[in-house]
Amino acid sequence: MDKRLVILGSTGSIGTQTLEIVDANPDLKVIALAAGRNVDRMEEQVRKYKPAYAVMWEEGAAADLKSRIADTDTKVEAGLDGLLHISTLEEYDILVTAIVGMIGIRPTIAALEKKKTIALANKETLVTAGHIIMPLSRQMGAPILPVDSEHSAIFQSLQGMPKDRVEKILLTASGGPFRGKKRSELVNIRVEDALKHPNWTMGRKITIDSATLVNKGLEMIEAKWLFDVELDKVQVLIHPQSILHSAVQYVDGGIMGQMGVPDMKLPIQYAIFYPDRRVMDTPRVDFKALGAMTFEEPDEETFLGLPLAKRAATIGGSMPSVFNAANERAVALFLDRRIRFLEIYDLIEASMENHVAVENPGVEQILEAEKETYEFIEGIVPCL
Ligand code: NDP
Repeated sequence: MDKRLVILGSTGSIGTQTLEIVDANPDLKVIALAAGRNVDRMEEQVRKYKPAYAVMWEEGAAADLKSRIADTDTKVEAGLDGLLHISTLEEYDILVTAIVGMIGIRPTIAALEKKKTIALANKETLVTAGHIIMPLSRQMGAPILPVDSEHSAIFQSLQGMPKDRVEKILLTASGGPFRGKKRSELVNIRVEDALKHPNWTMGRKITIDSATLVNKGLEMIEAKWLFDVELDKVQVLIHPQSILHSAVQYVDGGIMGQMGVPDMKLPIQYAIFYPDRRVMDTPRVDFKALGAMTFEEPDEETFLGLPLAKRAATIGGSMPSVFNAANERAVALFLDRRIRFLEIYDLIEASMENHVAVENPGVEQILEAEKETYEFIEGIVPCL
């Protein structure tokens, strides 16, 4: 039977790889696509996949797209209304959420309320609103299938296993381009250096998050919500070869992990066809050529992304939203060359110290915490 997809963030790294999976599987149909402002790529996608709807976040981009594709049958919409509309359409099966940031929360909630299956890449949704999303998913019987490679690996390692027999989750991390460096060596890091990830090709923001280990911090919080485990049961392990994508250790000491070459198409495809596994034409791991797989403790003195994330998660409530929003803004400032690499941590820490956490926040309060954080950072960046 055909599977019908709505893809939020279709012009990005995960979005375009999702469309490559569509190319290879004729039983996948694209019902709607959404992006921020990349009209050129959206126009190409509309012409190729002929979705019923295309949404651009920016009004101007939507108007531009509308005039460019006036000869097609695709309807163009804009903004949050557009995202909510396509997420709640009757005529689709799986929502692939591959946008960046908290903007993913509302469409995900709306889709869950319609009992849609979610293939979730947008980790910010769970980090900030996991306490709303996960109970809703259970209540509606609408599954959330992880796309993040580590969470997909954990999910795959839990298949057929008794969930109450999990001792801990082993969350692997490549360590990023600066693994082994000390703080003093990171003072003058340039944007170009931070964008060179050793193993994965990803969007710019998540590549910087990998270099700071903030990404791993976000993933710890994501794992806590997805797999319903306490944070102290999630152990981060640096594994520079990125072959073991994460693992689950059971109470008898047995460890189940998922391995493969670092390629996001596998977890995306696994989420789309779960519980099936489809043929995929990607390179295989050659263990003889690989030689060794190594593991190390993360250096939490240098890479503050992990301890800051743990602090945010332990305080809980709206604090993970502040951690996430401060990082988002700080990374944008770093990419704009307005702050230094290590100042990303300073901005996150200062924002968390400035915030009084709200317990059990609703969506409005989560977005309020984000806004407050942005305003706070705007107030202090010129002084840095
Ligand atoms: P990219 O920056 O490559 O792509 C982001 C996508 O979201 C683009 O299509 C962008 O559109 C769109 N977008 C941004 N803002 C909006 C908005 N307000 N409304 C609608 N669309 C919007 O990001 P990635 O693909 O790298 O990451 C997407 C998510 O997946 C993130 O949460 C990331 O943490 C997560 N993730 C990514 C992985 C990866 O390998 N890349 C791995 C695991 C998780 P436009 O380009 O038109 O502005």
